[in-house]
Amino acid sequence: MTTHIAALGLCKSYRKGKIEVPVLHGVDMEASRGELVAVIGASGSGKSTMLHLLGLLDQPDGGRVELDGRRIDDRPDRERDLMRNRTFGFIFQFYHLLPELTALENVMMPHLIRSGLFAYIKERKAIRRDAEEMLERVGLGHRLTHQPSELSGGEMQRAAIARALVGRPEVLLADEPTGNLDAATGQGVLELLRDLNRERGLTMILVTHDQQIANQADRVVRLAEGRIEEWVPALV
Ligand code: ADP
Ligand code: MG
Repeated sequence: MTTHIAALGLCKSYRKGKIEVPVLHGVDMEASRGELVAVIGASGSGKSTMLHLLGLLDQPDGGRVELDGRRIDDRPDRERDLMRNRTFGFIFQFYHLLPELTALENVMMPHLIRSGLFAYIKERKAIRRDAEEMLERVGLGHRLTHQPSELSGGEMQRAAIARALVGRPEVLLADEPTGNLDAATGQGVLELLRDLNRERGLTMILVTHDQQIANQADRVVRLAEGRIEEWVPALV
């Protein structure tokens, strides 16, 4: 299998006043096309930092990010914006849905951001149909006009997944997507992600602190002391 997305020697520190706080000291990891890789690690170990660097939400101090063997983290802003909107899809622990919009409007939003207002108005019907299809795919066809406050946690995460799929991403980056859900609901969300991974050949990097969830990935890696190590899940 060929490498799809890779981090090579990624370094990142945060500055707290005058003090540099190092978080990542040379992170090497990769995912093959269509692979689902789980990332585990203690709270504060830098999992979110790594995911943000992979998805071009932030820039490393050292090292690089490659997509299909081509460096992408140093591309011009415009190109990185495009990749954030098209190559990558993001899912977060707390969903990040806009509370005043319906589920359907939330899922239509990336189109608006991507196309600009005029194209959006012109294409509104097709965009709406696309968003409806995505919501149906994640099992929310009956919740189109509900606002986030009228949805359960699992439903909010499904809406966020539908939104992440709108740009037809190749790589889905999920930061503790089940972290705010009870075990059964979290398992349902994981199964949805697994199905999407298989049916669309989506490469997925899934951060989780839940060993049960991690065990269902194709491969598990652990972030510790600023580096990545392969991890063999306990067979229990
Ligand atoms: P994890 O996702 O594994 O819990 P994070 O990547 O969120 O870890 O954070 C790693 C470390 O970096 C933590 O010590 C955190 O406090 C620090 N950190 C994260 N983001 C920032 C930031 N924007 N400014 C300063 N420190 C940060
Ligand atoms: Mg985190």
